[in-house]
Amino acid sequence: MNKVYQVGDATVTRVTEMTLSGVPPEIYFAGSWDPAFLEKNRDTLPAGLIDGDSQLVVSIGTWVVKTPDHTILIDTATGNDKNLPYNPELSNLKLPYLDRLLEAGVTPEDVDYVLLTHLHVDHVGWNTRLAGGNWVPTFPNATYVFPLSEQQYYSSPASHNKENEPNFNVYEESVLPVVEAGLVKTIPPEGGEFLDMFKFIPTPGHSIGQMSISLTSGGEEALFGADVMHHPFQVYHPEWNSMYCEFTEQARVSRRRVLEYVADRPIIYFSTHFPGSSAGYVTRDGNGFKWEFI
Ligand SMILES: [Zn+2]
Repeated sequence: MNKVYQVGDATVTRVTEMTLSGVPPEIYFAGSWDPAFLEKNRDTLPAGLIDGDSQLVVSIGTWVVKTPDHTILIDTATGNDKNLPYNPELSNLKLPYLDRLLEAGVTPEDVDYVLLTHLHVDHVGWNTRLAGGNWVPTFPNATYVFPLSEQQYYSSPASHNKENEPNFNVYEESVLPVVEAGLVKTIPPEGGEFLDMFKFIPTPGHSIGQMSISLTSGGEEALFGADVMHHPFQVYHPEWNSMYCEFTEQARVSRRRVLEYVADRPIIYFSTHFPGSSAGYVTRDGNGFKWEFI
């Protein structure tokens, strides 16, 4: 059974599309990784962060939020059957994501809103599915909500000109079809409240207009941090960027700001890519921070 978290009147459930183990940290944190960190902290770090001696475990998934009135998905993972010429590992997948969504009590027709933190390959894929050779909205009754600046960038040549761009073709297959179906609402660059309980908070850097999403209900708060961090090691080393962070200095600023915010409050942090439950608490530890799964 999927673990269900309560945040005021809302419930939050993880649906994991895939777990990747054996990820080399010197590549994932290229230019930042320091093996001495692991040697020094191996005995005190939470379990499940690494595979074997030092390889990272990461995941890709969706958060399902049920409020008294609505069923909401936050980010839609990678999707099946995608054509990603510069991202072969995520291409042409055949994963039982929709079955897992059903296990979490959600049919595609049930979804009222799809909230997207940013428009990278591993966050928008299940927006669409292939039907009769065409990309159609997977969640036909949903409104898809995402930052306007992400749409402007990823629909423009500026985002497609980089060599081996891992997000090449993503906008065309996974975002444009929901735009053309008239199912989209965009969030302005300053962010803002949505459906009373949610707030889009600009946390740019990983991508040009990424936003984290806070959920507040019944005096309780949670934060869906998107790709502010990819792995709990970054709680301990906020200056480490992942290889997927596009605007590196800004990514560091946003990461530290989010850590400062959640560390001083009883806020559940829901990550996109952490292993295990993908959820937990950040607390202060000396001059830095530490991570605890829940
Ligand atoms: Zn991601």
